[in-house]
Amino acid sequence: MFNKEMYSLGSKRSVIRELFEYGKQRAAQYGADSVFDFSLGNPSVAAPDCVNSAIKELVETLDSAALHGYTSAQGDFGVRRTVAEFLNEKYSARYSADNIYMTCGAAAGLAIAIRALCEKGDEFILIAPHFPEYNVFVKAAGGTPITVPFSDDFQIDIESLKNALTPRTKAVIVNSPNNPCGVIYTQKTLAALAEVLSEFEKKFFKPIYIIADEPYRELAYGDADVPFIPSIYADTVLCYSFSKSLSLAGERIGYLAVNPDSQNARDLYLAIMGAGRAMGYVCAPVLFQRVAAKCIAARPKIEEYKVNRDFLYGALSEIGYECVYPDGAFYLFVKAIGSSAEFSEKAKKYGLLIVPADDFAAPGWIRIAYCVDADMIRRSVPLFAQLYNECTQDK
Ligand code: PLP
Repeated sequence: MFNKEMYSLGSKRSVIRELFEYGKQRAAQYGADSVFDFSLGNPSVAAPDCVNSAIKELVETLDSAALHGYTSAQGDFGVRRTVAEFLNEKYSARYSADNIYMTCGAAAGLAIAIRALCEKGDEFILIAPHFPEYNVFVKAAGGTPITVPFSDDFQIDIESLKNALTPRTKAVIVNSPNNPCGVIYTQKTLAALAEVLSEFEKKFFKPIYIIADEPYRELAYGDADVPFIPSIYADTVLCYSFSKSLSLAGERIGYLAVNPDSQNARDLYLAIMGAGRAMGYVCAPVLFQRVAAKCIAARPKIEEYKVNRDFLYGALSEIGYECVYPDGAFYLFVKAIGSSAEFSEKAKKYGLLIVPADDFAAPGWIRIAYCVDADMIRRSVPLFAQLYNECTQDK
């Protein structure tokens, strides 16, 4: 009666949703202070001031059609030109408005890029640990996701990746700074990846693309550098979002950028237009296209996340937890004691809502989103200590 795959996707239990429901019940029973919700990657830092001023200015100065009417399917020309000029100035690139496709966040950008590239039987390489939705987007496009395991330092395991390449490989999805582990892939790692992919292209006489999923590009701490992948490997489609950088997750705005120096760039852009059309992802929210253009150079107030990162990493490491030091994004990746599911279940008893990372292709690990109130983090530390004691006694 229904499409079986869609039905199964819609009815599949979501761990994060279950944690959320549990949190609500617990708050009703014991009070909101008894819940420590580290499950969601919803930015806790307020959107920069320029966002509200841009909204006010646009509402006061534009007529109804410009404010609320359709733009071109791929987005307003002026907005796309602003995005292109911004990328060119910042990264010495050569984008034009006709390389940019405005999207409903990175999720839509990924779904469009994958659909545009995928022919039946194509393989897409995912690098663990990774955002679970990649599997959904690849399968929905008729492709096959192939996951390569992570290395000890959470950089890309180049040898494993090399072994995963086949003549059917169409693209590699690269997410840095990474959700869930917070690692930023170094210039050295990305150069090694580029070398392997270039060799592969020569060997099989066909392009292989990188889809660079970058919602966390602006969330890098201290002097951590986030290399710009298109300048390391030309056949790259950038998938950017303002969800995290401008704390606009609910507004659904981002863009795809096809590198003009990539192979078949024009045709790839046309396929992206086609995929957007086929999926109904046309004309991204117009007010926020314009807000994003006005705030293109604004930076998030990441100091608050950094304070949380430093405190939580320090406190949990001191208790004895094995944590991956995050250079970016707003997640702490922690080794579970026992299986991820058991550990997350035990944590719930203390009101600690933490996500088992099995769906991130990292069984045995859990993810703690620290884009939350600093006081909640402080109050949670004794509970993490009790949880540690309980779990290590059990062992
Ligand atoms: N990619 C990664 C790695 C993410 O963590 C997320 C959201 O958390 C997305 C894509 C989707 O982001 P958006 O809100 O822009 O659709």
